[in-house]
Amino acid sequence: MKSLRVQLIFAILAVLGLGLGVLLLMAGSQISSVTTESYTRRQEVVTLAVANGLSEALMQWNQGRLDPQGLQQYVTGLSGQLGTDVSIVSPSGSLIATTHNPSLSASNAPELTFALSHQAVASAIRDDRLYVASPIVHDSKYILGVVWTDISLSPVQGELLGRWIVLIAATAGALLLACAAGWWLSSRIVRPLASIQVVAEQMAGGRLDVRADVSHSSQELASLGEAFNHMAQQIEAMLAEQREFVANASHELRSPLAAVKLRAEALAYGAVDGERAHQYAVEIDEEMTRLGRLVSDLLQLSRIDNNAFTRPVETVNVNEELSASVRAIRPRVADKHQDLDMTIQDDIPPLYIESQDLQVMVGNLLDNAVKYTPNGGKIGLVASWERNSLKIEVTDNGEGIPPRDLPRVTERFFRVDRAHKRGTSGTGLGLALVQATAQQYDGKVIVTSNGIPGNGTRVQLVLKPVQATLLSASAV
Ligand code: ADP
Repeated sequence: MKSLRVQLIFAILAVLGLGLGVLLLMAGSQISSVTTESYTRRQEVVTLAVANGLSEALMQWNQGRLDPQGLQQYVTGLSGQLGTDVSIVSPSGSLIATTHNPSLSASNAPELTFALSHQAVASAIRDDRLYVASPIVHDSKYILGVVWTDISLSPVQGELLGRWIVLIAATAGALLLACAAGWWLSSRIVRPLASIQVVAEQMAGGRLDVRADVSHSSQELASLGEAFNHMAQQIEAMLAEQREFVANASHELRSPLAAVKLRAEALAYGAVDGERAHQYAVEIDEEMTRLGRLVSDLLQLSRIDNNAFTRPVETVNVNEELSASVRAIRPRVADKHQDLDMTIQDDIPPLYIESQDLQVMVGNLLDNAVKYTPNGGKIGLVASWERNSLKIEVTDNGEGIPPRDLPRVTERFFRVDRAHKRGTSGTGLGLALVQATAQQYDGKVIVTSNGIPGNGTRVQLVLKPVQATLLSASAV
């Protein structure tokens, strides 16, 4: 598996290298042909000028007024001035005078044939030399012969080589720059990813407080980093909550166990008897009941946490269920000489709610109202069906809840003024359980109180259970 950086640079180099390579070849061949062309034109102009200048001398030679040696000297002089070899070829193709190596053959030079037949300048490149032939015309009519020059192409080749070197160097430079840009770009992508990877590994190793630093990266990677950090934060918070939950649960389990152990030991070793022994037995029973409630609340919460909820298949009659809850609490209400008033609207339809869930929620709310309302207080239970929601409201005129604690009352194990509540039975799980259960029915718990003793507390439970009539209607 290749690294992202290598892949990115490889891709840039491949695409750019191909493009620049094609451009280089095109530009190079264009430059070659333009340079050779202009060199040829220059040489043709020179040859044409020589041909014009030779017309008179050749005429004299033709007429015998100039001997062959004179012509040869004339040609040698011209050759020296121009820096090229010069030859004069007769219309029949034989060399009349030349500065060439004598082995030079005029027989298969196409430029000569062309110049003679077309009366025009012609050129050709052979063996790295440029040959130009220009007709020598007298009176614009008679062809006296052809001037034939030849010059080495090495100056052109030198010039071309220089241009090719510049082109290649520029291409290599562009590729190098592209490599550097690719490296820079890939670091900007890779660095934040590497940072996230390192943090993920550290988290896997148990360090949950670390976060990825992606502040100096592109928008998309910064968003990815933020999402990752947010996830890390959530995991940390969840684990902290779980730890706290376990610590609280152990603490809540330990105190009743210690109380039971103490009394059980006293009874077992016969340290107490008579009325005292009976009292201990009653207290053990109470503690065990408390423990039992605690354990069943914990189990219920863990069941909800595990998403074990399945939609109920049977409907309940809300009126009957609420009446049962009220009946169950009546003895305690009577003990405290409280007044419990129940108003249940009679238009509540049969609803798909688990009877036990309704009992847990309403039972806990009534239990709190009784617990936190002094003797002789008033408690109210009102239930109604509004806008497809079941609304259950439990009010009391007890001690109330300080407004600053209201947001926390549904937290697990939270108890207002825990130190002063030692005497009251309660674990701080009641409202948490009511809220978790309500959420299974897309519901919520709203607790309101101004915290002034006597003004009491109002707890609203809003649930959205499915109506039996709706289900049967959709089944049709
Ligand atoms: P607990 O087992 O302590 O009753 P809950 O979760 O039911 O636990 O309630 C959390 C805390 O909210 C209680 O400890 C109590 O301080 C406060 N609270 C709940 N209901 C009432 C109420 N009706 N009146 C006053 N305080 C209440």
